[in-house]
Amino acid sequence: MSAAPKAAPDLPAWPRFDDDERAGLIRALEQGQWWRMGGGEVDAFEAEFARHHGSEHGLAVTNGTHALELALQVLGVGPGSEVIVPAFTFISSSQAAQRLGAVAVPVDVYPDTYNIDVAAAAAAISPRTSAIMPVHMAGEVADMDALAKLSADSGVALVQDAAHAHGARWQGRRIGELGSVAAFSFQNGKLMTAGEGGFVVFPDAELREIGFLRHSCGRPRTDRLYFHQTSGSNFRMNEFSAAVLRAQLRRLDGQIDTREQRWPVLSGLLAEIPGVVPQGRDPRCDRRSHYMAMFRIPGIAEEERNRLVDTLQARGLPAFAAFRAIYRSDGFWETGAPDLTVEELARRCPHADAISADGIWLHHRTLLATEAQIHDVAEIVADVVTGSPARR
Ligand SMILES: *Cc1c(COP(=O)(O)O)cnc(C)c1O
Repeated sequence: MSAAPKAAPDLPAWPRFDDDERAGLIRALEQGQWWRMGGGEVDAFEAEFARHHGSEHGLAVTNGTHALELALQVLGVGPGSEVIVPAFTFISSSQAAQRLGAVAVPVDVYPDTYNIDVAAAAAAISPRTSAIMPVHMAGEVADMDALAKLSADSGVALVQDAAHAHGARWQGRRIGELGSVAAFSFQNGKLMTAGEGGFVVFPDAELREIGFLRHSCGRPRTDRLYFHQTSGSNFRMNEFSAAVLRAQLRRLDGQIDTREQRWPVLSGLLAEIPGVVPQGRDPRCDRRSHYMAMFRIPGIAEEERNRLVDTLQARGLPAFAAFRAIYRSDGFWETGAPDLTVEELARRCPHADAISADGIWLHHRTLLATEAQIHDVAEIVADVVTGSPARR
């Protein structure tokens, strides 16, 4: 007798909001000033979010891609420089460097944490290297001890792509306490959101001041005579977004607590499914934010992985294919690509290449579900994966 397929659990929706966001929007509206130079919401949010990450030097911006671009620019990245990025990431990591006229140099990641391979990054340093960009994949903080040492030894700056890492910690230290610039995203799917938005945490007031100028057309805050001190662009966050994000920040830690309780349950159940390997964890990342619940099916063919994702979605789960290795998108090659072929990059980045073909992730709202629902989710994944033909 075959049982009826497990019904999809009614998972929590994302984004979440309540009267706190509602009140914030009304507060911003009734200020009568809707940009940061006139209102108080962006200023307040900047202080609150930076402090929450152990820093006094925050800057709110339009989105995470701009946050990365600004962070790199403040460190002097431009034409003639190279930026080392993990090959397995969302494309903004490399696009930010390329938009500045720099070359993005992809390196491999570790097969278990999916974070930048520090030895590979060290080997890729050239006289033109201006920055290394660790991405804290799915909220698993990259090896910031080894990276800080590499940075100190080589003189190459670090820019943390913390788009997945709101509230994460490394050996008890918060993202703003790790000594380098960090860029966050508040896009709709991220762990805090206003639909769009971004943030840069700087290690000191001087860099933050340069960032402020460049995010506001090079114009000092007090200028009234249109004297633009540096070049720049308009990356300013608006007051409505900041008002919503202040409310979202108040909810962040409780949500991370829930996800930190649910992930060991889900990953334990996933690990029991033949062929499934959940994302690993470095114990030094002592608070993981869990932007995605990721796992691999090593050896599966990419087309079969894509079919599994479709089936998981048809069964009601918010399942997605892993990021494609950045050099496997045409857009990567338009400008600022290294003088290498796709095949050569794939040869140098075997793990990134494999994860992009065999990786699957579930939306982080899955980890806000009840423990009983987590069991239902794992049962559906087991059903779908073990029912899958054609393993390579
Ligand atoms: C989302 C994301 C970004 C870009 O953020 P946006 O706000 O969407 O521009 C950058 N890096 C990574 C790893 C991301 O996932």
